[in-house]
Amino acid sequence: MEETYLTKIIVLSKEVYREADARVSAYSLDRGRMNLVVRGALKPASKLSGHLEPLNEAEVMVIRGRRFDYVGGARNFLAGRFIRTSLEKTRRAWTALYLLDRAVAREEPDREIYFLLKDFLSRLEKGAVAEADFWLNAFIWKLSARLGFTPELEVCLQCGRNVRAGKVFFRPAAGGLVCAACHTPADLACPTPLAAWLKEIIFRPGQEINYALPPDGFFPALQKINRAFIKHHLAIDFF
Ligand SMILES: [Zn+2]
Repeated sequence: MEETYLTKIIVLSKEVYREADARVSAYSLDRGRMNLVVRGALKPASKLSGHLEPLNEAEVMVIRGRRFDYVGGARNFLAGRFIRTSLEKTRRAWTALYLLDRAVAREEPDREIYFLLKDFLSRLEKGAVAEADFWLNAFIWKLSARLGFTPELEVCLQCGRNVRAGKVFFRPAAGGLVCAACHTPADLACPTPLAAWLKEIIFRPGQEINYALPPDGFFPALQKINRAFIKHHLAIDFF
């Protein structure tokens, strides 16, 4: 008898596989990132395939195969309807899915990552387009921390002095802040209110992204730091 199990997944990507099948990469609640084959997905009558589009959350029955695991059945919860009506939202959602697809090893379950992604997508779904960038940035920082890349935001990485006051800089390669006395031209400016905001976003317990938008005018600095940090620690260049 074939071994089967049920799990919830969020679909990250989907590609044509063999003649009429599709292969889906998904983040699952119980098994982490996984690849699943959807038989006959490209046939017009396939009911399964529509449930398994990127962005969708579904409950799937998985059949363990010798070489691949197959989807035996799927029930769909979140279809990302409002995300798909906005190009801006779609772009942010795809960036998050792409990051997760690339940065996370297969079959390493972490329920917090699942709920973080789910929370991000539902906020993107319900929230204003103008907030989309903020949700993506917050998602990326929380994901990085979950993957073990937590930036040092308390003391200067070079001299160990407290960096709560005065001019502060971010050193992506070292993964944290340096003080005005230690900084080099390669470091990025990180105003103290932004450093405080990052701390709040990253260290608040739980998977929920909190509601506080970053302090006014600091978004460009945040984007720069974010991009350099991800490029260095996850080896992914995006935006
Ligand atoms: Zn220093």
